[in-house]
Amino acid sequence: MLRPRLVSGSGRMLVRPAKTAETVARLIVHELVASNAQPGDRLPTEAAMVSKWSVSRQSVREALRLLEVQGVISIQRGFNGGPVVEQVDAAYLGRTSSLFFHLAGATEEDLLNAWLTSEGMLAELAARNEDRFERRRAMAPFAAHDVPNYGELVGFDGHGAFHSIVGSLCNNTVLETVLLIPGTIFWSNLSSRQLPVSPRDVVAKHHTEIAIAVSAGRARIARDLMQDHIKYIADRYRDIPEVDTSKLVEWG
Ligand SMILES: [Zn+2]
Repeated sequence: MLRPRLVSGSGRMLVRPAKTAETVARLIVHELVASNAQPGDRLPTEAAMVSKWSVSRQSVREALRLLEVQGVISIQRGFNGGPVVEQVDAAYLGRTSSLFFHLAGATEEDLLNAWLTSEGMLAELAARNEDRFERRRAMAPFAAHDVPNYGELVGFDGHGAFHSIVGSLCNNTVLETVLLIPGTIFWSNLSSRQLPVSPRDVVAKHHTEIAIAVSAGRARIARDLMQDHIKYIADRYRDIPEVDTSKLVEWG
């Protein structure tokens, strides 16, 4: 298959000068962080931002729109509307990444293989966390093999909870975020297409074994168990009749 040429992976830097709207978006983000803004907080009005930074109303609107697309804020309509701070969700990063992967010609098979590697690394790093009390505390709910606790979860929410807790044990926000991307894309594609998922008793058993290995600090075992777990889910996905993993990673 001819690979699309819409993406270059040359590693070059973005040399295009930032547009005013991008600069304003960055200023807004800096202010949100500096003021410890919380989800639900309101941003200053457009007029206040126009006069504060001496930019056009159009630049402020474009900046707000850029941040809305990234999930940083939402813009509420109506009389009392205006920009409001949102809880930033890694799913937005997954969506942006999937666009890039789609344009770069990455297939679902590439995604599944990346997921196996990245999730295995997460488990290994979690088991290497030097704070063994923290490891045990975080893994305790999963180390007890209690299937009913899983409820109806085995879609993204319940399943993802375990994986994001393993990720948080990495103690490195960048690694945690980047390594969770393939799984985030996989689960969001799966749920948007309403395809069947793995049986919860098997998933719970896998999670229990991984949780015990992470708790005990057994890094290589944790990695191998996690890779077996992802392989199990990926193989079940490949077996679904309507699935064709030679297709491009879907953007969305
Ligand atoms: Zn899992």
